[in-house]
Amino acid sequence: MKKIGIEQKTKNKAPMRELGCEEEKPGNEEIMKEMSLEAHGIMGGRTTITIIGFPDECPLCHKKGVQVIKLTVFRGETDDEKIYVIYQCPNNDCNKPYIGVYSLSEEDDIYHLENLYPIEPEKKEFEKEIINISEAFCKIYNQAENARATGLDEIAGIGYRKALEFLIKDYCILLNPGKKEEIKKEFLSKTIKTYIKDIRIKRNAEKAAWLGNDEAHYYRKWENKDIEDLLRLIKLTCHFISMYMLDEAYEKEMSNEA
Ligand SMILES: [Zn+2]
Repeated sequence: MKKIGIEQKTKNKAPMRELGCEEEKPGNEEIMKEMSLEAHGIMGGRTTITIIGFPDECPLCHKKGVQVIKLTVFRGETDDEKIYVIYQCPNNDCNKPYIGVYSLSEEDDIYHLENLYPIEPEKKEFEKEIINISEAFCKIYNQAENARATGLDEIAGIGYRKALEFLIKDYCILLNPGKKEEIKKEFLSKTIKTYIKDIRIKRNAEKAAWLGNDEAHYYRKWENKDIEDLLRLIKLTCHFISMYMLDEAYEKEMSNEA
C-alpha cells in the first residue's frame, strides 16, 4: 500500500508529543524513534504500550508538521494486536482528526504503524494542454490515485488504463474530428497506430497501453514491469502531447509572421 507521509523506522526525527506529556528534550532523537503511551480500552481499563512509526504530514491536507496525539485506544483486551492512535492535524486551516492503526510485532513487542485513516490523496494537477484535451482523463486518473492511496491497488491499475484510453482517444478525436465515431469504438491500440503521428507520443502511449492491459487481464505479459512503470509512461505520454500541442499552437500563431 502506498503510505502517505509515514516516517520510516530508520529515521531519527520523531518530534511527537502527547497532550499532557512532557516535551522531549533536544538531543533525544534516538530515543524518540519509539514512544511509550498510555492506551485506553474502549470498555474501560488502560495499559502502557510502545509505538513506532509516526506520520510527518497530515493525510488529509498534506501539510507537514508535528502531528498531535490526542488519544490512544484499544478494543477491549490489553493484549490486543491493534492499537488506534487518534491524531490531530496541527495546521489551523485543517485541524482534522485521523487515526493511525498500529499492529503489534511479536519480534519486538512494539506496535508498528500500519495505516492511516482516512486518507485524502493530493489531487494531481495536469498541464493546461492536457486539461483542454480531456477533462475525463484528469478525473479518472485522480480516481485511480484515490483507489491506490486507500489500498485498492488491484483496481487502481485498471483505472489508470481507462484514463489513458480517454486521453489518447480525446486527443485523436481533437486532431481528427471527422473520425470521432470510428475512434470511439475501436481498440485503443488501433487508435494509437492509426492516428498518432508523433513518434515520441506513439511509442510511450503504446507501451503504456501494453502495461495498462496487464493491469486488467488475468495473464501478465510484462512481468518485470509494474504500476510505477505504467505511471511513468502515462507521464511521458502527457508530456509529449503537451509539447506537441504547444508546438502546434506557436507554429500556427507565428509561422506566417516571419
Ligand atoms: Zn491537515
